[in-house]
Amino acid sequence: MCSEMGYDLERFVGPVNEGLLCCICRDVLEEPLQSPCEHSFCTACIQGWLVHENTCPEDRQLLLASMLKPIHRYMKNDLAKLQVRCKNTDAGCTLVTNLEFVLAHQTDCGYHTIECTSPGCTVKLERRKLEDHLKDCDYRMKECPQGCGLPILSTDDKKHNCIAELRHTVELLRSEMICKMDDQKQDTETRLDAQRCHMVVKESGLQSQIDDLHAHLSRQTTELRILQEIERQRRIEMDKIELEKKELLDLVKSMREEMSERFEAMKTQTLPGKTKQHMCIQCNKKEKITVI
Ligand SMILES: [Zn+2]
Ligand SMILES: [Zn+2]
Ligand SMILES: [Zn+2]
Ligand SMILES: [Zn+2]
Ligand SMILES: [Zn+2]
Repeated sequence: MCSEMGYDLERFVGPVNEGLLCCICRDVLEEPLQSPCEHSFCTACIQGWLVHENTCPEDRQLLLASMLKPIHRYMKNDLAKLQVRCKNTDAGCTLVTNLEFVLAHQTDCGYHTIECTSPGCTVKLERRKLEDHLKDCDYRMKECPQGCGLPILSTDDKKHNCIAELRHTVELLRSEMICKMDDQKQDTETRLDAQRCHMVVKESGLQSQIDDLHAHLSRQTTELRILQEIERQRRIEMDKIELEKKELLDLVKSMREEMSERFEAMKTQTLPGKTKQHMCIQCNKKEKITVI
């Protein structure tokens, strides 16, 4: 069931504690998880089991994926310190190291089988043999010896035509350039559109500010007209009052004069022996008369 999970027990040097074995695959725990009932499993083993079950495979207690937790720290330390052979032992690697270091080694291990790095080559070989293979690989690239400078497959020497290849390269570059220019054009247009949108928003903002100012101005103009009208009415009132005052003053003055004239007349009439100015009606001359 979990043939790909768990480290093969045979790879380990020396005895391995029973507690560090997966309850499902019986190999050494790989990416271990622990159930509440303290049983440990490789992640892949227990996840595969819980697809169809909801109990611990060891003691049948209830077990859900959400109940799984990392194993105890001391178990982790014990696992990390186990001495294990490189998985390429059969190929010739003699390395024995701590379990915590073996994975890093295996990705660099010279006995690890890889594919040739030349594009198109399907040869599989040990990493340590790659360098020699690349010297003879049919798919390795080299610079054209006829002078065009293009990289060519080492087996393509005879098929290669410098002029045709260069023309093809130029075509590729041209279409690449056209693509780039199109992209740039698109980019510029997008940016311009964004700016245009921004300007439209700004313009409408300014327009509404102008409208507000207009409304404010017209309100002020109306208020000013009302004030002017009030002022005009006030002036008319003032003029009227002024006129009335003048009339009254005139009246007072004329009354005063009349009164003093009467007073004078009364004085000349009541005091006998006194002279009085008199205007003669016939000769129109002033003359003094004496009151008897
Ligand atoms: Zn397992
Ligand atoms: Zn259990
Ligand atoms: Zn190795
Ligand atoms: Zn190759
Ligand atoms: Zn060439």
